[in-house]
Amino acid sequence: MEACAHKVCRDCLRRHILDHLENHRFPIPCPACTLLNRIRPSYLGHGMLGILGFSEAEVDKYDMLEFQTQPVPVSCPKCTNRESHTRNSLVANRRLRCSSCSHEWCRSCHKDLDNSGGSIHVCRDYKRDKVLGKRPGRFCPGCQTFVSSKSGHNNRDLECSSTCGMHFCYKCGDAIADLAKGENPDRLSFAHLQTCIAQPEAGGSKTDKCNIQ
Ligand SMILES: [Zn+2]
Ligand SMILES: [Zn+2]
Ligand SMILES: [Zn+2]
Ligand SMILES: [Zn+2]
Ligand SMILES: [Zn+2]
Ligand SMILES: [Zn+2]
Repeated sequence: MEACAHKVCRDCLRRHILDHLENHRFPIPCPACTLLNRIRPSYLGHGMLGILGFSEAEVDKYDMLEFQTQPVPVSCPKCTNRESHTRNSLVANRRLRCSSCSHEWCRSCHKDLDNSGGSIHVCRDYKRDKVLGKRPGRFCPGCQTFVSSKSGHNNRDLECSSTCGMHFCYKCGDAIADLAKGENPDRLSFAHLQTCIAQPEAGGSKTDKCNIQ
């Protein structure tokens, strides 16, 4: 280990890293520091996985977990003030609020919510609500990347990049499943349908149903 100069054997280190990856725990502290209960343990970097001969899938898993800890920069559409949000705070808040000018907007469709009077906003106007040119889509509740609705496996579920691993609802914008946390999108997608604040139109159109059997 470079930062703390601890020596750990390859096998133990491999097992230690695999255990963290399998349990979606990040960052990965030096195992010797962990045993000693160091207040500031050194952390294992991306390069260590290459040295230890981890597979590409395992390195991808590491990158995905690392991505979750990165702050997400969000610019206010009114005053262009930039603020950093954590993934957790973005997932928890449908409304984004600028701390500089108090402007409020929707996390999912970026609609101006200043005059909404605090009522619950639903990104309702699916057809007209096109952002970024002509492609219908939504901003990811985890990383604010714009995801076009065509990249999802059906109308309702959107899937962000493989590094982000977020599956979310096109209609309400909420997170459905976070792959980095080991959540199962197919199972949770069904569960989400029961609680989605943007209920399907009366009668339920076929396009609302998941077509994966
Ligand atoms: Zn050992
Ligand atoms: Zn150490
Ligand atoms: Zn602002
Ligand atoms: Zn919206
Ligand atoms: Zn994302
Ligand atoms: Zn929903």
